Amino acid sequence: MSGKTAITPTRSENYPEWYQQVVKGADLAENSDVRGCMVIKPWGYAIWENIQRRLDAMFKATGHENAYFPLFIPMSFLEKEAEHVEGFAKECAVVTHHRLEPNGKGGLRPAPSAELEEPLIVRPTSETIIGATFARWVQSYRDLPILINQWANVVRWELRTRMFLRTTEFLWQEGHTVHATAEEAQIETRQMLDVYAEFAEGSMAMPVIKGEKTSGERFPGAVSTYSIEAMMQDRKALQAGTSHFLGQNFAKAQEIKFQSEAGQLEYAWTTSWGVSTRLIGGLIMTHSDDDGLVLPPKLAPAHVIILPIYKTPEERAKVVPFCEGLKKDLGSQQYAGEAVRVRIDDRDIRGGDKKWQWVKRGVPIRLEIGPRDIADGKLFPARRDGVKYETKPTPEEFVASIAKTLAEMQQGLFDRAAKLRDEATVKIDTLAEFEKFFTPKNADNPEIHGGLAYCHFVDSPEIEEKLKELKVTVRCVPLDGESEAGTCIFTGKPSTKRGVFAKSY
Ligand code: AMP
Repeated sequence: MSGKTAITPTRSENYPEWYQQVVKGADLAENSDVRGCMVIKPWGYAIWENIQRRLDAMFKATGHENAYFPLFIPMSFLEKEAEHVEGFAKECAVVTHHRLEPNGKGGLRPAPSAELEEPLIVRPTSETIIGATFARWVQSYRDLPILINQWANVVRWELRTRMFLRTTEFLWQEGHTVHATAEEAQIETRQMLDVYAEFAEGSMAMPVIKGEKTSGERFPGAVSTYSIEAMMQDRKALQAGTSHFLGQNFAKAQEIKFQSEAGQLEYAWTTSWGVSTRLIGGLIMTHSDDDGLVLPPKLAPAHVIILPIYKTPEERAKVVPFCEGLKKDLGSQQYAGEAVRVRIDDRDIRGGDKKWQWVKRGVPIRLEIGPRDIADGKLFPARRDGVKYETKPTPEEFVASIAKTLAEMQQGLFDRAAKLRDEATVKIDTLAEFEKFFTPKNADNPEIHGGLAYCHFVDSPEIEEKLKELKVTVRCVPLDGESEAGTCIFTGKPSTKRGVFAKSY
């Protein structure tokens, strides 16, 4: 891999274009005929399935059950929660007709006679429709808590889209829960934030900061919004998941009421929380390099790719069965609670091209096997994280050590990402220093700059102007941040806590 890279441009040449090329090179997804909507291809979807499977197990382990609610929401449902409407109205897809008819010019048009009495919204999120359902489910304190999750697609008419990170239609899960007390709902909100952080760090090898969003960044209709924030390799932050404490706002809008133990009729307390296919964008930008995708083993659709190498039918007759035997032995091993995933690529394409396809797809371990390797009884595995095998293992040694190697790689990726983030993290106490930190040296060729700045600030609309000017956002107020007396770097007002500031996706 000397000099030449499998992905052009490189990260330092043009990070946004590098990202698109990694997505393409790994065959994860492609743009579709519908603006802002992507086609998720099998390799990308297999990553999503791995994300789903691991998260789903975590949701169930914390007492949640899956259910499914309608794709359409009556427009009037959205009107009930004032802030919620305001937040989502500007990006809603609306269904107004239920039939097409010929338009007289050889094409079609929505039939005027088939206009819906009440337009339907394609769900941008489901608080309102699920809340209306919960209102029917909840009568007594005995019905609580309700702990539901839905795996679904949603539509938000985003203007600027980018594959996985921000699309018009995206796949996600949305948790929705109902509780008898504010305290219980708050505990739930924080518990799910913890689940997201544990998943991000444990399965995605992506270090995150858990924090609370400021008022300007709160989910429309929520009392408080918490998020996990990750730092990408270009030092921009990515909101990777959110958990909302909705107070009684939605319960009041939708009449979710229950008879308390004391016999009183009370409004319930609700929460919602979600992560989306954006996580795949985070995964790509946390680990990948100039040769393409690098996958943390826990989420890799294949842990090991075996590439049989042969020239003649006689060689093939030896090599392929050997590879199949090895695949079977590897598959009997367990890594992170699952069978080791192995694929053999015996397609008739040039060895070099084939190898590079799998490099770009990010498979953790690549194994080219030819007649010589079989005769020698030694394998020559290559790790996608660039770490070299110290010695050539025998097939038995390779199989016996596979789980250990994958675990080491998973940890290595986390450590590398954490180091990068920590090196790009600073405490800043003056506005001048803040401006310097976030100003690219040359706007036409922005070299790597910035990162995560921990600063004292006061959550108020007046600081937003300054932030907008610098194209910097306040990501969150970290939950583990100790309170310390300080001065807001924007207003000079006294502050008790630092927020994390960064350029962001
Ligand atoms: P929200 O309901 O706004 O709190 O968003 C829930 C989750 O979906 C968050 O983790 C967001 O990062 C993610 N998300 C929001 N908008 C999009 C989008 N347009 N494309 C992909 N993911 C999104």
